[in-house]
Amino acid sequence: MIRPFNFSAGPARLPEEVLRQAAADMLDWNGSGMSVMEMSHRGKEFISIYENAQSDFRELMSIPEDFKILFMQGGGLAENAIVPLNLSAGGSVDFVVTGSWSEKSHQEARRYCDVRIAASSRGGGFTSLPEPTSWEIGSDTRYVHVCTNETIHGVEFHQLPDLKALGSKAPLVIDFSSHVASRPVDWSKVGLAFAGAQKNLGPAGLTLVVVREELLGHALPACPSAFDYQIVADHHSMYNTPPTYAIYIAGLVFKWLKAQTEDQTTGIAAMEKRNVKKAQLLYDAIDNSQLYRNGVDRNCRSRMNVPFQLLDESRNDAFLAGAKVRSLLQLKGHKSVGGMRASIYNAMPVAGVQALVDYMREFEKENA
Ligand SMILES: *Cc1c(COP(=O)(O)O)cnc(C)c1O
Repeated sequence: MIRPFNFSAGPARLPEEVLRQAAADMLDWNGSGMSVMEMSHRGKEFISIYENAQSDFRELMSIPEDFKILFMQGGGLAENAIVPLNLSAGGSVDFVVTGSWSEKSHQEARRYCDVRIAASSRGGGFTSLPEPTSWEIGSDTRYVHVCTNETIHGVEFHQLPDLKALGSKAPLVIDFSSHVASRPVDWSKVGLAFAGAQKNLGPAGLTLVVVREELLGHALPACPSAFDYQIVADHHSMYNTPPTYAIYIAGLVFKWLKAQTEDQTTGIAAMEKRNVKKAQLLYDAIDNSQLYRNGVDRNCRSRMNVPFQLLDESRNDAFLAGAKVRSLLQLKGHKSVGGMRASIYNAMPVAGVQALVDYMREFEKENA
C-alpha cells in the first residue's frame, strides 16, 4: 500500500520506516517484554533509548560539546516563556519580527522582561526579511530572538545572522521548530536553539533545546524548576518524567536521517540537498503557472513551508477536493494567510512533491 502524501504543517508526516519500526516494537521493545510507553524512564532500557537519541542528534547536527541538548515538554509556545525566564535576567531583549511565530514569541516575552523590536517585516506583510545590517540591537540586550523559519508565512533565513559581525556580543536565540534537521546549523552563531518536535523530528509533546552551557544558571526566581535549563541539564532531562515515547520516536527519526543519502552525501547534508530539490520543484511550478502565486521574496522563501494562493479563490474548495481524491492531504493554508500551504518536511519524498506538482498542472489545465 502506498500511503497518501500528507502535507500537514504539523503534527506532520513521519518517515514510513519509522512508523513500521514503532509498530513492530509496540508490544515488546527489543525483547524487554514492555512497550516503550510502559518503561520506567530510569530503567536501563529507556536510558539506552535516550542516550542513543541524544548522541545521534549531536552527531547528525554536529553539535559542539559545549552545548547541552535538553529534551523538554511544552512545545515552542512554552519556550516563548521559558527562554526569557532563563536568559533575560529581567533585563532587555531584542526581537526580530518576521511572521506569526516571532510575533507570538515577543508578545509572550513581554510578561518577563523589557522587549524591544530590533527589526520587523510586518509593514510588508511578512513577505521579506529585514537586512541584518539594519537591525537595531541594544548594547545591553540579553539576547536576540529570531524565528529562522516562519511556518505560516513561509519565510526562511537561508543563513543565520552573525551577531558578532553586527557588533553585538549578545547570544542569538533561534526558534527553528519548523526547519530543524533540514540543513546544517552553524553553531558558532547560536546561543540557544529550540524546536517543537512535531514538524520535523517526531510526535508532539517533545521540545528539543540546544543551549550553550555558559547560558545556564541564570533563571529568574519565578522560573518553574521543571523549566530551569540548569536543573533540566543537571538531571539529564529527567528532573521530571520526560516525554518518553516521543523521545523514542525522535530517536528512530534520527537513525533514519543518518541513513539518508543524496548525491554522494549522507545525513543532514543529504537532507539539505533533497530539500533544495523539492522546494525548487514546487516553486518552479508556482512561478511558471498562471493560476498559482507565492508572494514571498525569492531570496527568503521557505524550503519547508510553501504557502500559495489560487488567483481565483473561488476554486479553493475544488482544488482541495481534487487533491484529496489523489491522496494529497492537508493542503489547506493557515487561516491567517488563506489559500494553500504545502509543508514539505524531511519525511516528504521528492515523489510526493512531484505528485502535487502534477496535480497542480492538471487542475490548472482543467480550470483554464
Ligand atoms: C509549530 C511552531 C511552534 C509552536 O509549537 P507548539 O508545539 O504548538 O507550542 C513554534 N514556533 C514555530 C516556528 C512553529 O512552527
